[in-house]
Amino acid sequence: MEKKMEREKLMNEPVVYIDGRFRPKSMAKISVYDHGLLYGDGVFEGIRAYNGIVFKLKEHIDRLYQSAHTIMLEIPLTKEKLIADVIRTLRINVFKNAYIRLIVTRGVGDLGLDPRKCQRPTIIIIAEPAIRLVGGEEAKEKGITTIISWVKRDPVDATTHEVKSLNYLNSILAKLEANIAGVDEAIMLSSQGFVSEGVGENIFEVKEGKIFTPPISAGILPGLTRKKIMELAEKLGYQIMERDITPNELFTAEEVFLTGTAAEILPVREVNKRVIGEGIPGPITKRLMEEFEKIREDPSEGIPIY
Ligand code: PMP
Repeated sequence: MEKKMEREKLMNEPVVYIDGRFRPKSMAKISVYDHGLLYGDGVFEGIRAYNGIVFKLKEHIDRLYQSAHTIMLEIPLTKEKLIADVIRTLRINVFKNAYIRLIVTRGVGDLGLDPRKCQRPTIIIIAEPAIRLVGGEEAKEKGITTIISWVKRDPVDATTHEVKSLNYLNSILAKLEANIAGVDEAIMLSSQGFVSEGVGENIFEVKEGKIFTPPISAGILPGLTRKKIMELAEKLGYQIMERDITPNELFTAEEVFLTGTAAEILPVREVNKRVIGEGIPGPITKRLMEEFEKIREDPSEGIPIY
């Protein structure tokens, strides 16, 4: 009886890809000597599938290989094979809509941090049918509350977030401050004091009807949603540009929103208790949200699963 229940439980779980093999979620395990765990030595992507189309899959794979290139981690698969394996993971789980986490670690080594001890990278693909949104269900309608954290974004001449590495302690320290303050998300400043990004999202502000977002030099991840939103905004006739943003500019912005694979477009209604605009999602934010919803499952924006 117990065995049967156990088997049924396993059958209801998503299966996880580890180095070419599939395991049920509760049995998907890797070595405690993996340098991804011991040192955060590795790279990853968060990807999303909408109605059978994996949004920007090729672009995510390109970014993964770029991150790996910078940290001198050679992914032992071609890009084509990795794309095929992501698709295979979604098919085996029979998912049409999913959040996908693709991870490549330095692999199993010894307790020293020298990457040369790691023989082979570990490749993991996790797919989940649903995603929890920052700020909960109402976040898109009401907007989220935020604080600017005392923890600065790692600078570009250190563990730069241009690389999507497994080292997220910088973000987690800021997230802790948001939790303590009882707000939904933290916004981080660059080492020079300009607005950088959210802990896992890029940031935009609207000022006098124009849209601004921080440049790469603020230590941000060049988000794929950010890129798409910039393209969409331009197509809709908005002026949109990268430039330094001060905390004061953010407090006094007409609109502020975050972007990311998980967040999509998330309106911000409060920064350190300063109400943004009318305290509700602004017209430009809403317009972009509508447009993004229209294109996110467009076959030309991604790769089909089936
Ligand atoms: N910044 C950081 C630090 C992130 O982790 C993410 C999520 N990947 C983003 C920005 C948004 O990037 P994307 O739109 O590519 O998901």
